[in-house]
Amino acid sequence: MQHNTPTPGPERDTPDDLLVRAAMGAAPDGIVLVDREGIILVANETMGTLSGYSVEQLRGQSVSVFLPPQLREKHAEHMRNYFLQPSKRPMGTGRHLWIARPDGTTVPVDIALGHCATNDGTAVAFVRDVSEMRRLQSHMHYQATHDTLTGLLNRWQFNQRLEQRTAESARHGRPMTLLLIDLDDFKTINDSYGHAAGDQALQEVARRLKGCLRASDTLARLGGDEFTVLLTHLAQPCDARQVADKLLEVLGQPCQVNGFNVSLGASIGMASLPDDAADAATLLRYADIAMYHAKESGRGQAAAYEASMGEKIAEKNLLHDRLKQAIETHALTLHYQPQIDRVSGRMVSVEALLRWNDAELGCVAPHRFIPVAEASGLILPLGAWVLETACSQAAAWAQQGMPLRIAVNLSAQQLRQPHLADMVQEQLQRHAVPNGLIELEIIESDVMLDPVQAQLFLARLKTLGVGVTLDDFGAGHSSLTYLKQLPISRIKLDRSFICTVLHSQQDAALVCAVIALAHTLGLEVVAEGVEEEAQVRFLEAQNCDVFQGWFFARAVPAPDIAALFRTLQAPVALP
Ligand code: C2E
Ligand code: MG
Ligand code: MG
Repeated sequence: MQHNTPTPGPERDTPDDLLVRAAMGAAPDGIVLVDREGIILVANETMGTLSGYSVEQLRGQSVSVFLPPQLREKHAEHMRNYFLQPSKRPMGTGRHLWIARPDGTTVPVDIALGHCATNDGTAVAFVRDVSEMRRLQSHMHYQATHDTLTGLLNRWQFNQRLEQRTAESARHGRPMTLLLIDLDDFKTINDSYGHAAGDQALQEVARRLKGCLRASDTLARLGGDEFTVLLTHLAQPCDARQVADKLLEVLGQPCQVNGFNVSLGASIGMASLPDDAADAATLLRYADIAMYHAKESGRGQAAAYEASMGEKIAEKNLLHDRLKQAIETHALTLHYQPQIDRVSGRMVSVEALLRWNDAELGCVAPHRFIPVAEASGLILPLGAWVLETACSQAAAWAQQGMPLRIAVNLSAQQLRQPHLADMVQEQLQRHAVPNGLIELEIIESDVMLDPVQAQLFLARLKTLGVGVTLDDFGAGHSSLTYLKQLPISRIKLDRSFICTVLHSQQDAALVCAVIALAHTLGLEVVAEGVEEEAQVRFLEAQNCDVFQGWFFARAVPAPDIAALFRTLQAPVALP
C-alpha cells in the first residue's frame, strides 16, 4: 500500500516542516495521523511513550494495534463510519477509553478527534494519558462513598444502594430486611478509654459484622456507633432474625482495645419490605423505631418493627415537644418532700422533686418525662435549672431561719458533664448558700458507668461541702465493695425494700444488714417510701438515720414547707 507519509529527513525539511515536527515533539498529548484505511501516517514521541511502541514501529501500522484483538474489527467499522461523516470531537466526550500496550498492560486515555482533507482524508487523534486523573477520580469516589475509619460504605452511598435495592425488590417481588445496629454504651468506651480506643472498637465492630455477612448483603456505617445491614437474598423472612441474633452474639463478645477488655453489645432494629414498608425512607424510619424499642426494652436485643411501636414513639415525641416548651416557658416547678431525722424527730432536710402540670397533657409524672428528658439531652438545661432553683431556695429558707438541706437528683447525663463540679460551685457562690445545705442524689448504676471519673467528681464535691447520697440503693446491682471507695455521705434504701420490709423476712434481714454495714463505713442511711408507722418503728429499731415518705408528708410546693417545718414531728419520742 502506498502512503503519502512525509518522511522526515534533514535534506527535505522546509522551515515549516521543522516547526511542525518541533511542535509535535513538544506536545504533551500523543498525536497520530491516520488515513482512511486506519494506517498510522505519523505519530509523535509522546504517542510512542504512551503506547509502548517506538515512533518507527507505529508508522505504517494499523491503529488497531492499540486495541486488543477482540475489539479490532468493531473499531475498524467505527473508523469507516467516521470517514463517511468526519467531524471534530473534543476531549472529555468519549466514554472510558484505554489503549493496549505490547507488554499486555493498558493505559486509560481520553481521545479528541479531528479531520483534514489532505490525502483523500486524514484523521488526527490527540491521545491523552488520564491514568493520574482516573486514579484521583477513583480515590475521590472512594472517599465520597466510604467511611474512612472502617472502610465500610458511608451513609450517602448506603442511601443510594437502599433506593436501588428497594426499586429492584419491588420489581422482582423479592422481600428484603433492613437491620439498624446501634452499639450499647459506646459513649462509655469513648469517655473512659479515649477516642483512639473508641475508634479501635468501631473498627473491630466492622470486622465482626463483615465476618458474619454474605457478599450479597450491604453493610454500612451510618455514622457514630450506628451501622446498618441490608439483607436482600433471604430464603424466608425469618432468616433476618437469625442474622440479627448472630450479629448480637458476635458483638456481645468482649473486645480488646488499648489493652483493656471492653464489652460492646448492641441493639438492633429490623424492618422489612414489603411487609412493613413500601419505600426506602419508611423502611429506614421503621427500623429506627424498632431499634429504639430494642434499646428501651433493655438493650442487647433485636426488635422487629410493629405498628404499635410507632404509636409509642409518637407519644414520646409529643412528650418531648411539650417538655421542651415547658422548660422554655418555666412551666415546671420544684416540690419538696420532707426528710425526718431519727434522733431529733424533726424535719432536717427535703428532697427536691420536679413537678409538671402541662396545659395539654395534665400532670405528667417524673417517671414519664425524666426518661424523655434524658434521651433527648433536655435533662441538661432542666437539671441546671433544678440545681439553681434548689440553691436559691436553700439560701432563702436559711435566711428565714429554716436551714434545711435540699437533696437534688442528678441524672447520668449530668454526671458526664466535665464541668459539673464547677457548675455546682458557681451556683453555691452565686446564691451564697450556707455550707452543707445542698446535697446531690445520684444512682449507683450511673456512678458505675465510670467509677474513676465519678470518684474525682465526688471528691471535689466534698471539698465544696456538698454531700452525696446514693439513691435507690439495692434496686440495681449494688456493689458493696464500691461503697468503701466512694466519697459519699449517705445511702438511700430503695422504696421496694421499705415496702416489703414488714412482710418479707429476707428483705428485713437485708435492710438490717445494709444499715449495719453502712454504719460501719461511716455512712448515714435514709429510708424512702415510708408509708406506715410500723415501718418507721422497724427502721428506728435498726437505727436508720433519716425517714422520707408519705407517712410524714408528700412533696409540697416551697411555700408549704414553712408550716411543715414548724409542725412535723416523728410519731414517737426517739431515744
Ligand atoms: P427518686 O429520686 O427516688 O424520688 C423519690 C420518689 O418517690 C418520688 O417520686 C417521690 O414522690 C416518691 N415517694 C416519696 N415518698 C413516697 C411514698 O411514701 N410512697 C410512694 N409510693 N412514693 C413515694 P417522683 O417525684 O415521682 O419522682 C420519681 C423519680 O423521678 C425520682 O425518684 C427521680 O429519680 C426522678 N426525679 C424527680 N425529680 C428529679 C429531678 O429534679 N432531676 C432528676 N434527674 N430526676 C428527678
Ligand atoms: Mg431521689
Ligand atoms: Mg429514690
